[in-house]
Amino acid sequence: MTTTSTTTTTTYCRLCPAACGLVVELDEFGEVAHLRGDEQHALTRGFTCTKGRHLAEFHRSPNRLRSSQRRTARGGFEALAPDLAVAEVASRLQDIIAEHGPESVALYTGTQAAMASLTLPFTLAFWKALGSSRRFSSMSVDQSAKWVADARLGRWAAGQQRFADADVWMLVGTNPLISMQGGGFTAFPIHDGMRRLDEERRRGLQLIVVDPRRTELATRADLHLQLVPGTDALLFSAILHTLLAEGLHDDEFTDRWAPGLDVLRAAVAPFAPEAVATRCGLTPGEIVAAAQMFGRARKGMVTSGTGPDMGPDSELAEHLIQAVNVVCGRFPREGDALTGTATLGSAKALPAQAVSPDRHWERAVAGVTGYRALNGEWPAVSLPDEILTESPTRIRALVVSGGNPAVAVPGKARMAEALASLELLVTVDPFMSETAALAHYVIAPMVHLERPDTTRSYEGLMDKPFAQYTAPVVTAPEGVIDDWNFFLRLAWAMGRSLKVAGREYVPGDAAPTTDDVLASFAGRGRVSLEELKGEPHGRLYFDLEPVRAAAPDPATKATFDVAPDDIVTALATLADDMDRVPMADSRLLLVVRRAKEVMNSTGTQINTLMRTPPNPCHVHPDDLARLGLSDGDAVSIRSDHGIIHSWVRPDTTLRPGVASMTHGFGGAGETDPEGAGASTNRLLSAQHHLQPVSGMPLMTAVPVELTAR
Ligand code: SF4
Repeated sequence: MTTTSTTTTTTYCRLCPAACGLVVELDEFGEVAHLRGDEQHALTRGFTCTKGRHLAEFHRSPNRLRSSQRRTARGGFEALAPDLAVAEVASRLQDIIAEHGPESVALYTGTQAAMASLTLPFTLAFWKALGSSRRFSSMSVDQSAKWVADARLGRWAAGQQRFADADVWMLVGTNPLISMQGGGFTAFPIHDGMRRLDEERRRGLQLIVVDPRRTELATRADLHLQLVPGTDALLFSAILHTLLAEGLHDDEFTDRWAPGLDVLRAAVAPFAPEAVATRCGLTPGEIVAAAQMFGRARKGMVTSGTGPDMGPDSELAEHLIQAVNVVCGRFPREGDALTGTATLGSAKALPAQAVSPDRHWERAVAGVTGYRALNGEWPAVSLPDEILTESPTRIRALVVSGGNPAVAVPGKARMAEALASLELLVTVDPFMSETAALAHYVIAPMVHLERPDTTRSYEGLMDKPFAQYTAPVVTAPEGVIDDWNFFLRLAWAMGRSLKVAGREYVPGDAAPTTDDVLASFAGRGRVSLEELKGEPHGRLYFDLEPVRAAAPDPATKATFDVAPDDIVTALATLADDMDRVPMADSRLLLVVRRAKEVMNSTGTQINTLMRTPPNPCHVHPDDLARLGLSDGDAVSIRSDHGIIHSWVRPDTTLRPGVASMTHGFGGAGETDPEGAGASTNRLLSAQHHLQPVSGMPLMTAVPVELTAR
């Protein structure tokens, strides 16, 4: 539709996987004049969040980099053209690899690398082409306990049950209505999630939420267990105890797939609801009610977010959470429709059978900290030691894509020291982030509305067969480069081919366009990309048959290991130490909280998105009164590992004894810059309370003391 001076077009938001449909009005100069939710969008029906409605600010922010930057000898930065950036970075990487080998180069990827469909595949292909095994990501300061559980408990080849088929669902430590965390993690339908949840509940779904805060999700729950932060392992030991004691487990399933059930039964015997309820801050009746509501249902899973995985005992807690699904047989059986959809992606019927645990980390090479790679990734907290400690495989060059390790990883001072000591630090970042400020090269990428893209990479998170293509909506500044293209050109400049999605990109080939690559990715899909280009609001392909679980291999010997020795030992320690609670004194327990304005550190650069001042410390009014504090008071927040400064805000959704803030704010230096928000990272430790397998640091349920400033 065209008016005298504006043009209206449609696209979708790519700040998070919810892929909300947008209607964009462009002014006569082709700039975004107005942006709103697309009510005709087949999947999200007009929903947007505040970040999406501020999407244009990411483009026109004065902080946005419009050309790549090279550090100068005097410590400042100067602009350089994409071609020159590629050539110089390639040359320096070649030199480092020639002298020290490929293991001297490492990769760090953050959440934003997964938001455009081509970024992560090309980043990983580039790293693979280098021949290095040194990979780090934000997963290891987030949810690596899920990987440990997969490798120690086993997993179900056909994945998760579907929210849409369930009559019960238990969500632990997650608020997907805000975090938009669905898919392989929570299985929550994040697309237009609020309305979807209301629809599922009207259909009869019972919702159980486990969270120390009465979140937007918890207010819609049939049962909300508002537990003491950090007691997830105790709670799920008691839920397993109850399920097994009351015969609410699926014995046909466990007979076939969980031979260690009796060992688990004995290991959770000490955790009767009456024994753990007080420590969890619950009543025995609440724990029994949750176990019964879940166990008596026919279909539906327990899934978790970052809450239990950031807390103490996270590897044990996540094992027990996933073991509940095994004990109750809550996995898709032969013929059941599978989660995720295949429209632009290819359809693959996965067998309804267990995949035995492989405990692969035990065979991996240990790094200088003693930690080993998990799923091919090293703990992010070990990155500074791998950079600063002399060893044959010392990391000398780091490439960062879509992440900000200087802010995301606990142990800021040492991380900053390590990043500053690198021979080469290259980051792809649209803003001069804290990591970028330490880099030798900052590659300025295209952002959001400047790129063509498809929703293919989000299909694993969708429970409806949807697809959308978007053309670029606005013109990118001349000095930026699409990030997938940076990695392809960098590989070619180093004389290396990239293999991505079944196609090999060889130096000397004609340079592909983004549309060429998107077409190649969609080549094995079930819908035509060309046809999809004629669907301005995306399309739901209800005519496509759902992908269904295939029959198990009759010869398979694969089973879950619900009670391996290390889990039995951990449960025995927990039982012996049951009097221990995370808070041994009058301090508050600081828990992590998602904020609508940001996704991790993304959004903190947008002034109009930030509250003034950002990242308050939320505290229950009873605790404020006890501490003699009032709304808006400036406070110092001290943990065993550091001190930060913020201001308090009363919050009746918290249980008393709990404070709540958001990770991802603040700067990389000793103190947080004015207006940047307090960095909770300074309250955490990269040396203490690390999980034994994953090296995951304690990021929530951190004891803190609040004092007026
Ligand atoms: S950031 Fe907000 S508007 Fe954008 S996709 Fe996510 S939920 Fe939708």
